[in-house]
Amino acid sequence: MDTRDFIQLEDIYTAHNYHPLDAVLTKGKGIWAWDVEGKKYLDCLSAYSAVNQGHRHPKIMKAMRDQAAKLTLTSRAFHNDRLGEFMKKLCTVTKMEMALPMNTGAEAVETAIKIARKWGYEKKGVAENKAEIIVCSENFHGRTTTIVGFSTDPDSNRNFGPFSPGFPIIPYDDPDALRRAINENTVGFLVEPIQGEAGVKIPSAGYLRQVRDICSEHGILLILDEVQTGFCRTGRMFAWMHEGAKPDMIAVGKALGGGIYPVSAALGSNDIMSVITPGTHGSTFGGNPLACAIGTASLDVLIQERLDKRAEKMGNLFRKRLHEIATDKVLEIRGKGLLNAIELKKSAGTAREHAEKLMKLGVLAKDTHGQTIRFAPPLVISEDETEWLAERIQMVL
Ligand code: PMP
Repeated sequence: MDTRDFIQLEDIYTAHNYHPLDAVLTKGKGIWAWDVEGKKYLDCLSAYSAVNQGHRHPKIMKAMRDQAAKLTLTSRAFHNDRLGEFMKKLCTVTKMEMALPMNTGAEAVETAIKIARKWGYEKKGVAENKAEIIVCSENFHGRTTTIVGFSTDPDSNRNFGPFSPGFPIIPYDDPDALRRAINENTVGFLVEPIQGEAGVKIPSAGYLRQVRDICSEHGILLILDEVQTGFCRTGRMFAWMHEGAKPDMIAVGKALGGGIYPVSAALGSNDIMSVITPGTHGSTFGGNPLACAIGTASLDVLIQERLDKRAEKMGNLFRKRLHEIATDKVLEIRGKGLLNAIELKKSAGTAREHAEKLMKLGVLAKDTHGQTIRFAPPLVISEDETEWLAERIQMVL
């Protein structure tokens, strides 16, 4: 079978919920991926930041193999000997007190929403079924019916209704709008520190600090979705650490599974998390021993290899090199750490066309929203490889 055969087969039997680039990948190692014809690419998407540690990191692979040889799934109907250690480590890196393990990012966000509402009723005294969680326009928090119900992207929610009420939408990067939207039923504010899927939208300096203070003043929960920005991607273990804006709850996923396995969690203080009692929430796979072993090793790699520092250093180098490119095609270069985007002028043609040209030069980067290309390579990228990447982008621009 060649590239065309694989794509045709996929097309016939797989619902068309993505519009992939025409590379059929068969192997990955570190920052690199190979297609079925043997062509090598620098993976600049990292599976939407799930592969921060690089493809098939040897330490995470070893943890996976060792655990797979012993025990993989028990459900939480029984204890297992890996969960406590993993949750302790995750609480330490997030600076939270208690975690609820799930699998995907959307589930982590759903879990945070459920806990925040329950906290609102039981601890804050909000009237039954009136709880509100304020969210931002252009948000991306996942694909469940509750979550897409408060998306402002018509592709995400058209014809998927009816939706859950209780999610007032305010503009992003607008602290005054948050202040105005809070009322006696507000239990929390759910926000991304950087809006990744919206095209790497970075709020003004001080925004997170301000929303932190507003939430504290009004006694509502700051709930950060760090599913994409977390685990060293932006140059800190979590993006909130740039401004010391510690949230009350955090949703994490993606790189927690080291690019190998879906592992996610919602975390908060003991007071908040204690609203969850036996039978009120659950997941057959959440917290399974294989996920715990992989999650523990994934955190160890981030810490031991100082991938926060590397993301910051390589991100600075990358943006510096992009700014040096003489071109009239670029409207804006933006990013933090290794979460970056180039927004092209309309006159330059589409981001898709540019992503296809990059692919021919051995760079896999994904277009989004017409004019934007995201560059988010695995954080294990070296200085020479960053230079190599910038050269390929220069050729295309
Ligand atoms: N939140 C954010 C900020 C995300 O970027 C994503 C995925 N792109 C999600 C939630 C959903 O994660 P998943 O696809 O694992 O459900």
